[in-house]
Amino acid sequence: MAIEFEESVSIDSIDHALLRSRQIRLGVLRLDRIHPLVSGNKWFKLKENMKAAQQGGFSALLSFGGTYSNHLSAMAAAAQLSGLRSIGMVRGLHGKEQPTETLRSCMETGMELHYMSREAYARKDDPSFLARLQAAYPDAYIIPEGGDNEQGMMGAGAIAAYIPSDVHLVVLAAGTGTTFAGIRRQLDPAVAMLGFPVMKGGMYLRESITQKLGAGQGNWDLNADYHFGGFAKYNDRLTGFMNDFYKQHEVPLDIVYTSKMMYGVFELLSSGHFLVGSNILCIHTGGLQGNRSVSRQLCYPAG
Ligand SMILES: *Cc1c(COP(=O)(O)O)cnc(C)c1O
Repeated sequence: MAIEFEESVSIDSIDHALLRSRQIRLGVLRLDRIHPLVSGNKWFKLKENMKAAQQGGFSALLSFGGTYSNHLSAMAAAAQLSGLRSIGMVRGLHGKEQPTETLRSCMETGMELHYMSREAYARKDDPSFLARLQAAYPDAYIIPEGGDNEQGMMGAGAIAAYIPSDVHLVVLAAGTGTTFAGIRRQLDPAVAMLGFPVMKGGMYLRESITQKLGAGQGNWDLNADYHFGGFAKYNDRLTGFMNDFYKQHEVPLDIVYTSKMMYGVFELLSSGHFLVGSNILCIHTGGLQGNRSVSRQLCYPAG
């Protein structure tokens, strides 16, 4: 593999009166430090897929995403760094609209973008559609939306190696739940996990994570209360929280995922939800490039 940069991963410990009063330790696993674009969990979900692509002799990667897809921008940059072509199939655009900052970043790192209607995109996992796509792009290794496949889960499982053995609870934001399930599979079953779905009605993830885990469920739960109106939706309370969090702890959170997780964690903390004396590790899954769309509301540089 041409790229290998996980040595920058580290854990920051957060100091806060709410934590001290309940003797709770709160760490942040900084996967965002891996790379500005190939950041966080996206690198882990991609790396086994990229190995498979190279072993299969493919010269391009093809995947799917929305206009705010960190997966597409990470894949574009990772492909460029390893000398592979990349093709992004984008939901719900005609190609005439102004591209989002995320899509602009995809194009800047050499991704070829194709726009699909919502109706066409809905068939993105149909075997017959995929067979036609593969015939149209015979050199491309096709990765499902969000890196949501077995290789993605296997790669995400490698994040578990960065979790110290004295942690009681691992917390992370969830989109497809692939990262959550991948870590859950590799983690000691006694360690609890809490996921924050970032879209409205995110409790449907309960079923897909249950399915992904199969026989080895372990101890896990979801809290879908902190979606702030839906995927990539936000308000002043959330951006205010992000700015305060950065000023107090020097940890930049992203607007789509990690801000909602951390907001939820602090609200649960103040309501006494977490056990006194517990050791909690929040995973910073990256995604800071997504802050370019809200750079004017933030007091720290967008990734
Ligand atoms: C994509 C993403 C997630 C969600 O990962 P899933 O494996 O789809 O659940 C979480 N955080 C960030 C920053 C992401 O970009």
